Amino acid sequence: MNKKLIVANWKMNPVTYKEAEELFRFVEKGMRDIKNAEVVLCPPFVYLPMLARLFSKQFCAGAQNCFYEQGGAYTGEVSPLMLKDIGCKYVIVGHSERRQYFFETSEIVNKKLKAVIEAELKPILCVGEDTRDSFDSKGHWTHELDPKVKEQLVLMLNGIPKSKIGEIVIAYEPVWAIGTGKPATGDDILSAKIFIQKVISDLYGRKVSQTMRVIYGGSTDSKNAAVVMKEGQADGLLVGGASLDGEEFVRMMKCIAL
Ligand code: PEP
Repeated sequence: MNKKLIVANWKMNPVTYKEAEELFRFVEKGMRDIKNAEVVLCPPFVYLPMLARLFSKQFCAGAQNCFYEQGGAYTGEVSPLMLKDIGCKYVIVGHSERRQYFFETSEIVNKKLKAVIEAELKPILCVGEDTRDSFDSKGHWTHELDPKVKEQLVLMLNGIPKSKIGEIVIAYEPVWAIGTGKPATGDDILSAKIFIQKVISDLYGRKVSQTMRVIYGGSTDSKNAAVVMKEGQADGLLVGGASLDGEEFVRMMKCIAL
């Protein structure tokens, strides 16, 4: 059985390194008996070099973002090669908050994706529609109503060779489910996964689409994680809010990956 991928996105939290290290140590201790998960913690950039030294094989460091050049005169930016150098393994690219607050387009995400792959890091590529309008009155996902996920995928994967596709983890993150307390249902997630696999299959062939990991993110917690994972056939979770509460996050991992 493939290990589940559990990604904690701390976003711009906590506000002191002391708190970050406490949370880190709590999670690290709590996950010692977790066997079936690869856990990726994505703290803010400033904590990464200190925390990256403490990670182990099953528990690794990820970044929440990066720039698309590896070095140069780009004030305030952090490059994939820098992340690689301090021991990061994964980078989240295309998170909806980057689109919303920092005006990232799919074309920019595409450049970031290429830079992450070039630096031999694993990208966690976020896709997702804005509203729940893409579901019909019976709650079935009507893909035709919202071509956004397809458009995002096609633009973001533009120019990525087939040989590199297996390294990408797709995070299905419907914007309407992020931080709202209203997660997508197992059915929603499964429909989305099948849809994403179809788009990948059309672009790269069926075999590639079947091996690609598709994880889910949006208002997951210890109460819904097991159901969401099982019914949605998700290969893992991208967790925001719940990953900031050490006890809750450890409970969540235990529900899905003991
Ligand atoms: C996210 O921002 O990627 C996310 C999944 O957040 P939350 O779990 O808080 O909905």
